Amino acid sequence: MRSTRIRQTFTDFFVSRGHQPVPSSSLIPDDPTLLLANAGMNQFKPYLLGETAPPFPRATSIQKCARTSDIDQVGRTNRHATFFEMMGNFSFGDYFKEDAAAFAWELMTEGYGLEKERLWITVFEDDDEAERIWRRIGVPAGRIQRLGMEDNYWSMGVPGPSGPSSEISYDRGPGFGEEGGPAVDGERYIELWNLVFMQTVRGEGPAKKDYPIVGELPSRSIDTGLGLDRLAAVLQGAENVCTTDLLLPTLNTVQELAGREYPGEGEEKVSFQVVAEHARSAAFLIADGVLPAKDGRGYILRRLMRRAVRHARLLGITGPVLPAATASVVANLGDVWPELTGRAGLIEQVVTAEEESFARTLAQGTRLLDAAITRTREGRSVTLAGETAFELADTYGFPLELTVEAARDAGLTVDEDRFGTLLDEQRRRAKTGGKAKTAEALKRLEAYRELAARVPRTEFVGYDSLIAETTVT
Ligand code: ATP
Ligand code: MG
Ligand code: MG
Ligand code: MG
Repeated sequence: MRSTRIRQTFTDFFVSRGHQPVPSSSLIPDDPTLLLANAGMNQFKPYLLGETAPPFPRATSIQKCARTSDIDQVGRTNRHATFFEMMGNFSFGDYFKEDAAAFAWELMTEGYGLEKERLWITVFEDDDEAERIWRRIGVPAGRIQRLGMEDNYWSMGVPGPSGPSSEISYDRGPGFGEEGGPAVDGERYIELWNLVFMQTVRGEGPAKKDYPIVGELPSRSIDTGLGLDRLAAVLQGAENVCTTDLLLPTLNTVQELAGREYPGEGEEKVSFQVVAEHARSAAFLIADGVLPAKDGRGYILRRLMRRAVRHARLLGITGPVLPAATASVVANLGDVWPELTGRAGLIEQVVTAEEESFARTLAQGTRLLDAAITRTREGRSVTLAGETAFELADTYGFPLELTVEAARDAGLTVDEDRFGTLLDEQRRRAKTGGKAKTAEALKRLEAYRELAARVPRTEFVGYDSLIAETTVT
């Protein structure tokens, strides 16, 4: 089943069950606590919290999501991307667990035709009610597992609505990993659909895992997320999210540029996937108004682009890669996401400029990094100096994560504490006397602003907030 039909089937199913179709929000959320949209429920948060009366009791959407927290998984698991589409149905104080489970089961087995015997269910550890509901639907006890806070108590990752969840996973078979259900192996039993029973408010804490539950929501709501990319992989018999019709054309472009075939395994497979997948994320981020910058969202975009370029070099691509790769994203997904087509010119110019500026220093920086790795090993140390990581970032524009990744490939870690200290010192210095740098950064910002002004605007929502957030050091 092609992805266009997967989307349509989802929307039709829920619209015919009384859900209002709502367009995806921008990747730049209307929510100061959140850097990038990471779930379908983000735009409905005020309804869930009871801050705004929901204009309809039920909704359905296909939301553009970015999760750079999954960046290291790309190419290493079969199921993680930094950008993906999340299909969801929502109830705002209307139906609850029983209907949410029944809808999901019917759509999975009848709408998408997945074999019942391959579907596994997880429920939150003390949610007896959810287990009873799934048993009534006909799922045998042996395919229902209980998991704790980490897996089955959902929250946005920032303070906000939360609740116990119940997930549907699909058994891809013994070729994909160990037996024993999603509690044992997330690659073989790929998590497809998360049904969240929204009922609590989580407050703030030092780390996500410490966010305390501080109260009850005014009413009990349903928030679900079914990953289009993962479902497409299952329905298309694709090994992973980078070889579905959502990304295959882009992967093909990378193959052409590299002059070699995607190998299907090993480190080259990772590099192919990183290039194609990050190109898609970059195209969507730019289309929604994110521009490369030193911090915030702009830094996330920059890091994705630079990581893609570095992996392209590992594949032997010496010339530009991002313009062609993002163009194939626009060609492949522009019908479904018209903002890509509307901002195709800007996407091309931003990725070209960023790649050119990075390419100028990439070769030198790589030599410096390789030499430092060799020195570190010769000195029988396993830690690359923070000074090296800092010089690479400061002089050559290597995001710390790139250095960490290259060091890790060589069996080393990086002294990140020292790196942090050096960065702080530099920021302090810049505040007092960094006129030249500030001027240069402002000039670049100005250049991007001009670029943005030259191309037609379609739903360009994030520009002002982005500029405001771009602190120039
Ligand atoms: P996982 O445990 O596999 O990392 P998750 O529990 O973090 O997934 P949820 O927050 O429950 O994911 O999101 C709902 C759905 O969105 C998932 O069930 C999955 O289908 C999809 N999804 C989540 N993260 C990604 C990703 N990085 N790439 C592609 N799809 C994803
Ligand atoms: Mg996850
Ligand atoms: Mg999970
Ligand atoms: Mg989940």
